[in-house]
Amino acid sequence: MPEGDTIAGLALRLAPALSGRVIRACEAQALDPAGLIGRRVEAVRSHGKHLMVDVDGGLTLLVHLGMLGRVRVLRAPLRERRTTPQLLLEVDGARVLFSRVPVLRLVARQAAARVVGALGPDLAGEAFDLDEATRRLRASERPTIAEALLDQGAMAGVGNELKSEILFLERQSPRARVADVDDARLRAIVSRARALVVANVGRARVTRNALRGPRVWVYGRAGRACLRCGGVIEKITQGRDVPRSTYFCATCQPSPRPVAP
Ligand SMILES: [Zn+2]
Repeated sequence: MPEGDTIAGLALRLAPALSGRVIRACEAQALDPAGLIGRRVEAVRSHGKHLMVDVDGGLTLLVHLGMLGRVRVLRAPLRERRTTPQLLLEVDGARVLFSRVPVLRLVARQAAARVVGALGPDLAGEAFDLDEATRRLRASERPTIAEALLDQGAMAGVGNELKSEILFLERQSPRARVADVDDARLRAIVSRARALVVANVGRARVTRNALRGPRVWVYGRAGRACLRCGGVIEKITQGRDVPRSTYFCATCQPSPRPVAP
């Protein structure tokens, strides 16, 4: 699942292929190719789960991969095909193919800045501000800590897999209300999020350092044995508007008194 680590790694991979190069050809279903052909790529950046390709003329290609989106650098031309790709950019020496991407828009640079400006500190960013992220997480209006971790306005980059892994590593119940998590613990949760995102930029995500067995502690492991205590991993659904799965060990992450619904 693309989270902040994946997108930061994608930006690092795309930058050498695209930066400084002129878009020679473009095929697109998603937008008008004429808006991109002939433009020079100035930068490839990321913030949380957003990818931005800045081109000259003050425009930015704003991208969010959602759950299923993919961006690939192709070495050879696409073979004969029946349908127009969602977006194919061609520069000297590289082609970049975007497919199944839910958010793919060419916008004014200021419009992209407004989208990113509404997000919390970027967990993969060099200038990540731990205090600011902790403050915003504390102020999140989401009822439980698990839901607050997905609040991109608090800090940007945690998705559903990292959410469960962070809470397991910090022995934190996902059902706890944010208000019931003390300052030191909240800060430790943010530090853990930062450490996991930074450690996983540019590689397949691993949250569990072990030579054998699963690469993660709890995500996707409902009904299986906890790798720390041997208890059974549970799966619950949290979030009223957008229900998301949370995986946890009730022994390692005991519920606080009173339990939130
Ligand atoms: Zn356990």
